[in-house]
Order: sequence, then C-alpha cells, then structure tokens
Amino acid sequence: MLVGDGMGDYPLRELGGRTPLQAARIPNIRRLAAAGTVNLIKTVPDGLAPGSDVANLSLMGFDPGRYYTGRAPIEAAGAGLDMAADEVAFRCNLISIGDGLISDHSAGHISTGEARPFVEELNRAFGRDGLRFHVSSGYRHLLIWRNGPAGVQATPPHDVLGQPAKNNLPRGPRSEELLRLMDESARLFAGHPLNRDRVAAGRAAVSQIWLWGQGPRTALPSFAERYDLSGGVISAVDLVRGIGRLSGLEIVKVPGATGFIDTNYRGKVEACMDLLGRADFAFVHVEAPDECGHAGDLKLKLAAIEAFDREVVGPAWQGLELRGRPYTLMICTDHLTPVSVRNHTREPVPIAVLCGPAAASDAQAAFDEFTNQGRVAGMAFDFIHRLLSEKGEPCR
Ligand SMILES: [Zn+2]
Repeated sequence: MLVGDGMGDYPLRELGGRTPLQAARIPNIRRLAAAGTVNLIKTVPDGLAPGSDVANLSLMGFDPGRYYTGRAPIEAAGAGLDMAADEVAFRCNLISIGDGLISDHSAGHISTGEARPFVEELNRAFGRDGLRFHVSSGYRHLLIWRNGPAGVQATPPHDVLGQPAKNNLPRGPRSEELLRLMDESARLFAGHPLNRDRVAAGRAAVSQIWLWGQGPRTALPSFAERYDLSGGVISAVDLVRGIGRLSGLEIVKVPGATGFIDTNYRGKVEACMDLLGRADFAFVHVEAPDECGHAGDLKLKLAAIEAFDREVVGPAWQGLELRGRPYTLMICTDHLTPVSVRNHTREPVPIAVLCGPAAASDAQAAFDEFTNQGRVAGMAFDFIHRLLSEKGEPCR
C-alpha cells in the first residue's frame, strides 16, 4: 500500500477548475488506475476529526470509531514508548507566543537536538514519579502522566495560529492542572539561557509548552493474527509508525526520510522491496504532499504529488512486476489537505487497486476526488479490511 499523505484537494481556479490530482503529471498512477479499479472511500468516520491518525488507522483496516483513543498515545507508540493502562499521553509542543498571540506552533521548526535541553529542563522542574516528559522529534514531544486529566478539551496549536493563546486554553474537567504546567513552563523558559542563546542566533524563542491530543493507551489487534500477513511500515512520521507498532508490524527506518519533499524516495522504495522479500505486506507512507497543503503552496504540492508518482509508485510497481509473482498494489491518500484551507478536510478519497502481474498498456484512467461521479464505496477500513482478508481475491 503506497500512501501519499494529504494529496486530495479542491478544484482550483489556478488549475482551470481542476484539483491538483487532476492537474498533476501522474502517469504511473493513471496507468495503474486503468489496469485496476478506482474507488472513493471514506477514511474519516462522522464525529471524528480528519486527522492523519484517524485516516491512517482506516487505511490499515482499523475502525477509528472502535480503536481511536487520541493522537498522543499513537505518537507515543511511534516514539517507542510503552504505556501502562493508567497512563495518559499528551502531545507536548514547544511553541512561540508573541504579544499574547500563538505565533508559531513549532518554535521556528526547532530541531530535535535544540529541543532536547528544553525537554530536559521540563523534567528537572516538573518531572516526578508518574509525570514524565519525553523527547520525540522536532517541536513534537510527549508527556506521559499517570492518571492524568484525560477528559479535557484541548486545542491543537496549529489550528489557532495568530489567535490569542488565552482564548484557546484547555477547558473541562481538571483543565486547571494542564494550565498550571503550561503557565509554569512559560515562567521556566522566560529569560532562560537556552532561549537567550536562541534569540541571539536569530531563532524563535520557545515561549512555553502546549499540551493537547491526549488519550489513554491505544490497543490494536495484531495485524499478523487478523490477516495472517507479516509486514512492516515505512514512514518518517511517528504517528504512522505508531499505528504500525501497535498492530505488531515491523518499523523500517530509512535514512534520509525527512517527511518532506526532499525525502529519500529511492531509499523508501528499496526498503519496501527489501521488506517484501521477507514479509507479505508493506505500508509506505510519504508525508510531503500534506506538508505542502499545510503550507498553502500549490506549486510545491503539485511537485510533491508528481514526485510520489515518479519516485515511489513507478519504481515500486516496476519492482513488483520484475518479481513476477502475484501481488495487490494499492495507491491511496489519507485525506484532503486543500491548499486553500491549509488544513485537513473530511471528504472521501480515491484508492486504486491493482492485482498483478498486469499486461503492459498505456491506457490511463482518472484518479481524483470525483472518481465514479463521487459515488462512495463505503468506509475505508471496511474496504481495506476486505482486501487484506481476502488477499486481493476480489479483483482476480
Ligand atoms: Zn495525513
């Protein structure tokens, strides 16, 4: 399964009323769509937010309505942390606030190395038995809190950029405990030597932590037991790795996988073919199109979609054909990240499925948000669960 994160979009005037998927040069995906089938599937159940966590759970065949407990516990799994049943995981962003406004949810895209001493300071000041901060990556860190306030309503800081922090603080039961940590982190970091050095170097100061995305431990069924398939996940993103780890899949790390348009595509495809030499299933996730959607950069998004087609889909398909054995190849995206919205939306997404080997042909078919006149073939987790259970039989 090859996933281009956030490839879906809306029709754009700049593209003559076409979506980026319709306008991009994606000959491999279109040939695959012609040789196989294309359907629209719904990755985000009603009542859940269209996060990559929910959408990628769906794409691995898990019903988010049943298994989703929050974003942070999945990221914790992706970071290699094991949680106890009475622990609550929180996403802990390092953020910048200027004049009371949330100016940056990423503290200037702080690197993991730069963030580590800040997280260590948090543990020195507030850490205790049952409350521990953990370094994850970049600005994205984690707090694991025994019997922590799981019932708060907390807002992701990237959803309220430019807005007053005080209007977007956590609310609900025991939210004051969360607020106290956030406030105390602001006092700890104000004028801290670490920040003085950052500002002197022209970098954004880390104003405070922002806690959100909480939930208790996520428990997923074992992929191997469910489908009688061994397999692994190839992704630069902790969230996607977390879903893999929670379902017992191997996590394959690829050097130079950045989660952006400069990622090591070739390394990902090589790792995929290598994995398929010893296992049955590979989930290859490419983050770049989503990041371009968040940036609102249409040109870059088109380039990211085209790179996914050229550098991932083409070579992976060719690799499967060269092996000469039966295979099922699925190409999909998890959700829309329209450049006009700069965030995820919940409309259905296309999925192309090919059971190969396939006869060589230059025929092309559409792979976009309006496939089959917008008729939706159901929930993604049902669709994919069926495909994985029957090992591609439906398209033979
Ligand atoms: Zn996504």
